[in-house]
Amino acid sequence: MDFLEYDLTITDEQRELQQAAHKFAAEVLRPVGIELDRMTPAEVIAPESPLHDVYRQASELGYSRTLAPVEFGGLGLDPLSSYLVSEELSWGSMGLGGVIFLASNCADVALAVGNPEAIEDFALPYYASTDGSICGCWAITEPDHGSDTVSAMVPGMEVKAPGQIVARRDGDDWILSGQKSAWVSNAPIATHTMVNVEIAGANSFDECAVFLLPLDLPGISKGPPLDKHGARSLPQGEIFFDDVRLPRRWMIVEPSGYSAQLEDHLTAFNAGVGCGATALARAAYECALAYTKERIQGGKPIFEHQSVRARLFRMFSLVQASRSLSRGVYVYNLTRLTRGEPGALHHSTASKVFCTNAALEVATLAVQLHGGNGMTKEYPVEMFLRDATSLTIADGENAMLAQIGASML
Ligand SMILES: Cc1cc2nc3c(=O)[nH]c(=O)nc-3n(C[C@H](O)[C@H](O)[C@H](O)COP(=O)(O)OP(=O)(O)OC[C@H]3O[C@@H](n4cnc5c(N)ncnc54)[C@H](O)[C@@H]3O)c2cc1C
Repeated sequence: MDFLEYDLTITDEQRELQQAAHKFAAEVLRPVGIELDRMTPAEVIAPESPLHDVYRQASELGYSRTLAPVEFGGLGLDPLSSYLVSEELSWGSMGLGGVIFLASNCADVALAVGNPEAIEDFALPYYASTDGSICGCWAITEPDHGSDTVSAMVPGMEVKAPGQIVARRDGDDWILSGQKSAWVSNAPIATHTMVNVEIAGANSFDECAVFLLPLDLPGISKGPPLDKHGARSLPQGEIFFDDVRLPRRWMIVEPSGYSAQLEDHLTAFNAGVGCGATALARAAYECALAYTKERIQGGKPIFEHQSVRARLFRMFSLVQASRSLSRGVYVYNLTRLTRGEPGALHHSTASKVFCTNAALEVATLAVQLHGGNGMTKEYPVEMFLRDATSLTIADGENAMLAQIGASML
């Protein structure tokens, strides 16, 4: 952990947590993340893939439930400790950090909405399982509606259009039909999902409802894992719903509460992406710093050339600024949300946009400082650059998110 800790109030216990997470990230996540990056999407999710063992190890260590209270089986960490652990995991591998972060989605949402039946059905079994046998995801975007879905709660940006997944009432049950986009992170390996759906006849993305459900119900199928440019260790794919019957209690957010819950969820997720992007930028900076001290050109290590140092200083500044912003936002918003108080979405949005743009710039500079070697798979910086690009689109493309943030000022 080659950075100056500005927070002098960090306890010994928090440092130990951070160091343990760093060890796991360096010894397990970094090498496996690189291995998965080079595999085909089908190989990444195959039963013999190291992905499953890594997720199992992370579950055993509690990294897939850092914020959940101890009485439910979580680590019960405060938001700052959770941030410290999350930054280390994503430093090891942005994609695998994403797998671990998203896995708890259904359980965490069940707990956040406080619905006793949802807690019984979705939170308790997840927190009790430490063998990686339960994994969640969040299916919100649709093939024809990406930005439309994440801007739904912003006044003036609501979109009236038919959704591609619709819920209709049938007695005491709900019937779901349609599909979600190929971008649903964890979908190919998930056992459960949270899904945002339009109620039949509503025709609007700000009047949807949210269900939690297991993915082994009759009528559910999945598309093939997506073959993509970056975040290749984070499997993504479609989920199809063919007249899937759900009991009423699995609708955990009704249309009247939809906008508020979406805002809370994006507040938490954008804060998480800001942390992941900071970690990725740090990983790229550290690799570039080490490389410039080894590579000799002009008769000396390139680190000693002033223009190289100037670029490293720019990268260093972006990493430190990202950490300060993303950590502050994460701690503030996760503290508020876990207390049941509203968070500040535009701050999480600012963190997501700033930190992912910073990660993209840092990763680009890291590749350039590696010269031709930066283009090869001999060095991880080319993967960092692809991963950074994907983060600028995850959870809302940055220009779109900036528009959402600006509308909230
Ligand atoms: C790594 C990664 C992880 C992801 N994880 C998930 C996940 O777990 N679950 C899930 O459901 N989805 C997930 N997504 C999908 C992601 O949320 C969408 O890709 C994103 O919201 C953009 O939607 P889109 O791809 O449909 O692009 P579009 O919405 O088609 O946007 C294309 C371009 O048009 C611009 N644009 C669109 N609408 C407007 C507007 N109204 N005004 C101005 N400009 C506009 C955008 O800014 C963008 O530049 C993930 C994506 C990535 C890359």
